[in-house]
Amino acid sequence: MEYFESMEKYGHEQVVFCSNAESGLKAIIAIHNTTLGPALGGTRMWNYESADQAINDVLRLSRGMTYKAAVSGLNLGGGKAVIIGDSSTQKNELLFRTFGKFVDGLGGRYITAEDVGTSVRDMEYVRMETKYVTGISKALGGSGDPSPVTSYGVYVGMKACANAKWGSDSLHGKKIAIQGAGQVARNLCEHLFMEGAEIFITDINENKIKRVLETVKAHVVRPEEIYDLDVDIFSPNALGAIINNTTIPRIKAAIIAGGANNQLEDEDRHGQMLLDKNILYAPDYVINAGGLINVANELEGYRQDRAMKQAEGIYEILSRIIKISDEQKLPTHVSSNTIAEERLAQIGGIRKIYSSNVNPISK
Ligand code: NAD
Repeated sequence: MEYFESMEKYGHEQVVFCSNAESGLKAIIAIHNTTLGPALGGTRMWNYESADQAINDVLRLSRGMTYKAAVSGLNLGGGKAVIIGDSSTQKNELLFRTFGKFVDGLGGRYITAEDVGTSVRDMEYVRMETKYVTGISKALGGSGDPSPVTSYGVYVGMKACANAKWGSDSLHGKKIAIQGAGQVARNLCEHLFMEGAEIFITDINENKIKRVLETVKAHVVRPEEIYDLDVDIFSPNALGAIINNTTIPRIKAAIIAGGANNQLEDEDRHGQMLLDKNILYAPDYVINAGGLINVANELEGYRQDRAMKQAEGIYEILSRIIKISDEQKLPTHVSSNTIAEERLAQIGGIRKIYSSNVNPISK
């Protein structure tokens, strides 16, 4: 019964348990909310210690996707899937094709994509069994690597924060600390460098830094040093939970704006701590929505220029969130959740009108 209680508490519509002896598949698909459209969210493969842990994860992540799509203005709902297993040893064609069959059985209520532990290749196996999958390679008509669009969204989002904080969105001469030198950070650094920002960068992998330095000038610092720098903006683009009791007192930046997922270790507590310290925090799921915008574009026949244009909208969305936060003295993640909930309520209202017109018996 406690699963029903959780579903009711967080508003989930449907949770599907998938099991298949031949392939060894054990998966859970959670559809949180389809008010705005089909539930889209990646498939995570993880060696969960228990089914409870897997269910908690899929319920939490699918709900997050509803908010992300809603605040980004996309006509998509929130969903997520988890496959229980070791992604380094238990992946094969049969597993993902079997999973694809289950996704197909949902008839388009859920659309999947890659996530932690799954790859574009895995999604290509899923694609053999269902059309309800995004994020496949460009060669197969998909959108390919989402990071150029994600990075562009982070860049424009950073500019929106600068405008709110300093009255100008120019990043020229601003000191910006970049944590991580991976896909998102690399493209982001190129935009920042072109605009004349002074970049400080770190990564645990030296090769990643070398690759960034091929196209931009940056000061390289050690991973632990990144929190202590005297900079204007701190941009996390590596790990989650890095904004916490230990790091907040060290951060001197006026703005935190980066692409990493789940940056706040404890959303409410650390969101409030940042507000109290007058640090403007760009909610991660808003500023990194370019990745979702990119795969959503695939559903209409992928065009990167259109995805980039849509990602530009992150500037306006963040500006609105910041304005509400300033007016109501609320942490930014709270005002972005409110905007998402309002959109869901409004569009849900339209749906009710529509369904009452076409099918009066359903009343
Ligand atoms: P990536 O794996 O290419 O880059 C992450 C980098 O972080 C790696 O180079 C890694 O070595 C580095 N790193 C790990 N631990 C570190 C530490 N302690 N200090 C400094 N660097 C460290 O991943 P990515 O695609 O660039 O994604 C970065 C973040 O953005 C992730 O949190 C991801 O979930 C999120 N995100 C990415 C996209 C996308 O389009 N790729 C979209 C939305 C969100």
